Amino acid sequence: MTEKFERSFTQQEPIPEEAIARAVEVMRHGRLHRYNAADGEVTETELLEREFADFIGARYCLAVASCGCAISCALRAAGVRPGDPVLMNAFTLAPVPGAIAGIGARPVLVETTRELVIDFVDLEAKAGISGAGFLVLSHMRGHICDMDQLVDVCGRAGVTVIEDCAHTMGGGWNGVPSGRHGMAACYSTQTYKHMNSGEGGLIVSDDPDFMAAAIVNSGSYMNFGRHIAAPPADAFRDASRNVPNCSGRMDNLRAALLRPQLRRLGAQCRAWNERYAAVEDGLRRSTAIRIVERSAKEQFVGSSIQFELPGFGPSAIEDMVSRCAERGVVLKWFGRDEPVGFTSRYDSWRFVEPQSCPKTDRALACLLDMRLPLTFSIPDCAAIAAIIVEEADRTGADGAAPGNDSAGDRSGFEVAGKAEEMHV
Ligand SMILES: *Cc1c(COP(=O)(O)O)cnc(C)c1O
Repeated sequence: MTEKFERSFTQQEPIPEEAIARAVEVMRHGRLHRYNAADGEVTETELLEREFADFIGARYCLAVASCGCAISCALRAAGVRPGDPVLMNAFTLAPVPGAIAGIGARPVLVETTRELVIDFVDLEAKAGISGAGFLVLSHMRGHICDMDQLVDVCGRAGVTVIEDCAHTMGGGWNGVPSGRHGMAACYSTQTYKHMNSGEGGLIVSDDPDFMAAAIVNSGSYMNFGRHIAAPPADAFRDASRNVPNCSGRMDNLRAALLRPQLRRLGAQCRAWNERYAAVEDGLRRSTAIRIVERSAKEQFVGSSIQFELPGFGPSAIEDMVSRCAERGVVLKWFGRDEPVGFTSRYDSWRFVEPQSCPKTDRALACLLDMRLPLTFSIPDCAAIAAIIVEEADRTGADGAAPGNDSAGDRSGFEVAGKAEEMHV
């Protein structure tokens, strides 16, 4: 073993001073609830909604308690009923099937390609077999499928799209911001995503009836007039009494933390992509590593990187992950049988009807994933890539042939498991 990387893969940047000052102001006046406003005051939550809608280029925006909450709220507002089938990517994070199952609907899993995007052939087939009218499309790990083709396939199948942009806030497809291709889109402002308010979510849409229902569902009571990024009052005529109130509002404190972060999101995305490029350049030096490639039309945000070790058997991958962990480099292995810290493997969601997705299994079998916090410098990223390349080449040289599956010493892997954080 040679150099060791000493910095944390889960350490975020501090909240900007301007955001701290705004949050302190909110605490000083005490009106934290989004509908608790002084005469004529437009609250931080309303302002955030207006600014985020403008940033994405959407007509309406609603701020809620989390992205998981945003997805359930969007499904209810779109008219999904208990028992309805809802299509979703087999490769995503547990809150997505959780949001679908949580409203009593039935997740129908759609295969994932080796490029980590939804499989259009399987999407069309599953839409037909299930009769589902909705798709929750996760741009998992920031990989954006061909959105023009997606819109086409879903249009033909009569499937309405709700985008899960938890990993694509600030990204886009062919110049169009991520979240503009479906009927609605959901974003996360949880600590490990692209803006940090601890917890939080945002929904955007151009559809007035949908947005009115979402606002009432998020817990507006009769305060729906106190939104500056909402449809006009007549859109609420039915929704205000017919849609259940499932309280999940954002508060002014979080909105105050987010507004200055939104103003610098573009710069943050560029900083992520510089780090991504540094790691990617480094990893390309090893023939044992295959980077998950991205389309030239994809404006991704490189807040994490995914790569494969093709031809490595499970024990060789465990060995490689544990050696990297010993050298301070935290990798996640999505092919691992038992979930550790996070659950992104569909077979660990026991609340979902068992389904088999062999193509997704193959895509995840030798897939590794690494977060790239902005607290890393460019030289840090180069150092991390060098460690991964050394360990991949060493493991490869030690005989990583498929099927070389002796159990080996697993103690190093336990270290890797503990270091993994909960939120993808
Ligand atoms: C984090 C995440 C969510 C849920 O976000 P929360 O704000 O934590 O509820 C949904 N989808 C994906 C792909 C995620 O990574």
